Amino acid sequence: MSRIGGKNTKPELIVRSLLHKMGYRFRLHRHDLPGKPDITLPKYKKIIFVHGCYWHGHFDCPKSKRPTTNIAFWETKLDKNISRDKNNIKSLIELGWDVMVIWTCEVGDIDTLKIKLLNFLQN
Ligand SMILES: [Zn+2]
Repeated sequence: MSRIGGKNTKPELIVRSLLHKMGYRFRLHRHDLPGKPDITLPKYKKIIFVHGCYWHGHFDCPKSKRPTTNIAFWETKLDKNISRDKNNIKSLIELGWDVMVIWTCEVGDIDTLKIKLLNFLQN
């Protein structure tokens, strides 16, 4: 339950239920797309990733603070995650998708989250 970064994490469920309430229909974890995006809205050609601040390295976020032991191990592991995310997003954009990343630290404020989603989906 406390595992971070897996499928169907709580922040992801929050975003999904909000989108659903807003009337959007979407598909989950499409295996045929780079990075198996968390949320895909084919009708709008939009993709939303819900990323854990720690595992995906949210820049300048207190929740992405790296461990002070085993530094080399964690640096390599987390840097690999970040560069993989970057490559996936680049490939998706090349395929014509519009991509947004929502960080888990942003999910707590539903009103702001809603505005962010609307801005992304209506443009
Ligand atoms: Zn964050």
